[in-house]
Amino acid sequence: MYDVIVIGAGVGGLMCANILARSGRRVLVLEKQPRIGGMLQGFSRRGVSFDTGLHYVGGLGAGGPLEWLFRYHGLMDLPWVKLDCGEEVILDGRSFLIPCGDREFVSGLLKYFPDERESLEKYTGALREVRESIKDITADKFNLFSKSAGSFLQETISNPQLRRVLSSMGLRMEMDLDTLPFYEYAQINASFIESAWRLKGPSSLIPSTLAEQVQRNGGEILTGVEVTGIREGEVFAEGRSFKAESIISSMTPAATVSLTEGLRDVYRRRITGLKDTFGVFSAYIELKPETLRYINHNITIDNSVFISFNVPEDGSGWADRLELMTPVREWSSTREEGYEEWKDGLARELIQAAEKRIPELGRSVRAVHTSSPLTWQRYTGSASAFGVKKDCNSALATIISTRTPIKNVYLTGQSLGLHGLLGTSVTALHTSAQIVGYNYIKQTFSI
Ligand SMILES: Cc1cc2nc3c(=O)[nH]c(=O)nc-3n(C[C@H](O)[C@H](O)[C@H](O)COP(=O)(O)OP(=O)(O)OC[C@H]3O[C@@H](n4cnc5c(N)ncnc54)[C@H](O)[C@@H]3O)c2cc1C
Repeated sequence: MYDVIVIGAGVGGLMCANILARSGRRVLVLEKQPRIGGMLQGFSRRGVSFDTGLHYVGGLGAGGPLEWLFRYHGLMDLPWVKLDCGEEVILDGRSFLIPCGDREFVSGLLKYFPDERESLEKYTGALREVRESIKDITADKFNLFSKSAGSFLQETISNPQLRRVLSSMGLRMEMDLDTLPFYEYAQINASFIESAWRLKGPSSLIPSTLAEQVQRNGGEILTGVEVTGIREGEVFAEGRSFKAESIISSMTPAATVSLTEGLRDVYRRRITGLKDTFGVFSAYIELKPETLRYINHNITIDNSVFISFNVPEDGSGWADRLELMTPVREWSSTREEGYEEWKDGLARELIQAAEKRIPELGRSVRAVHTSSPLTWQRYTGSASAFGVKKDCNSALATIISTRTPIKNVYLTGQSLGLHGLLGTSVTALHTSAQIVGYNYIKQTFSI
C-alpha cells in the first residue's frame, strides 16, 4: 500500500512525486515507456543524441518566475546557458531582436518603434505584474484567464506592426489571439522577458535529475508499466493491482477519464470534448563539422518556422545540431500512405525556409531525422505540443481542476493550467497541495 501513486514519469508526474516523497509520503511512479521523461525523453540516431520537448525556458534569473521552482527540484544545478535575447522574430524578411530584461526590452524595441515608449512601458508593466503574481498560488486568477490576449494587445499597443511582433514568438503557445487567455500569454512571455535559457546537454537531464531526487527521498519508479485502469484507491497495470490512498495522473485528461471507473458521463464528455493545441513537426539536423556558427538564441520566421540550436558541448563556436519546427494543426491518427514522403518533403521545405536566415544551412546538413504529431502520440500519449487549448471565452470549461469527481484521484501536467515547463512546474504545486495542503506548499517553497 502506497500513500500516492503517480501515473507518468514526465516532468509533471516527477515533480509531484518529488514534492510528495520529500513530505514523507510513500510514493510509486508508474511509467509506460521503457524510459522516463515523457516529452523530454530525447532519442539518439547513429550515436548522436537529439533533444525533445525543450528548446528554451524563461525566468531562471535570480528571483525569476521559474528559478524558485527549479531550485527546489535541484534543476538549477544543471548547466544552463543564458541566451543573448528572448527571441529573434523575422516578419516579411525583417528581423526584430526581442531583448531580455524589462528595461532592455523597452529600449531594444524602441530601436524599431521609436514612437512607442509609452505603450511598451505599459506592456512591460502589465506583464511584470502578472509575473510577480506567480508565487501567489492561492489567488483567484480567473479574471486574467477570461480576458483575451488579443484585447490586451489592442488596448495596450496601437501600432499594428508592433502588435504583430509581440504576437510572433513562434512556438511558445497557440497564438490565437481571440481565444488565448491573457494570463497564459502574459505569464509565458513575461518569463522570457525576465531571461531566456538553454540547457547544455540533453533535455533528459531534467527528468533524470528529478528521478534521482524522488528515489533519494524513498520514492519508487517503475518503467515499462502501462496503466490500464484507475478507480478510487487502486490502479491497474500489466495484470497487477497497485493500491494507494491517493492517485495522481499526468496522462492527458482525456486518457485519464477513459481509464477511470465511476465517472459521470457529463464530466467524461466535458473532458474528452476539449480541443488540443497544435502538434509539431520537427526536423532534427545533424551538421557537418565546422560548417555553421552556433547562434545563441531562438529564431521564429513568419510565425511558422522555428529554429533552435543545441549548445555545442565541446565549447567551440561551431554548431553540431539544430532543430527546425513548424506547427501542424491537423493530423490523422494513423500513418497513412505517403507519410514518409510527407515528412521528407516538409523537412526540405523547412530547411529552405530557414535558409532565408541561415543561407549556409543546406550545405551544412549531414543528416536529417524527423518527428510528427504521430511520433509524439506514440512516445508520450499526446500528439499535441501544449495539451488542452485554453479558451478565454470558456475559461470555466477549458481550465481543468486538479481534482476529479473521484475521491483522491487528481490530475497534473501541462493540460491543466499553464503549459510548458513553467506551467507544468506550477501545476505540480497545485496537485501536490491537494494531498499535503497549501500551507505545507507555502512553507516549503517560502511563498
Ligand atoms: C515539440 C515540443 C517543443 C516544446 N518546447 C518547449 C520549450 O522549449 N520550453 C518549454 O518550457 N516547454 C516546451 N514544450 C512543452 C514541455 O515539453 C511540456 O510542457 C512538458 O514536458 C509536459 O510534461 P507533462 O508531465 O505534462 O507531460 P509528459 O511529458 O507527456 O508526461 C506524461 C507521461 O505519462 C506517461 N503515460 C501516458 N500514458 C500512460 C499510461 N497509460 N501508463 C503509464 N504512463 C503513461 C507518458 O509516457 C509520459 O511519460 C515542448 C513540447 C513539445 C511537444
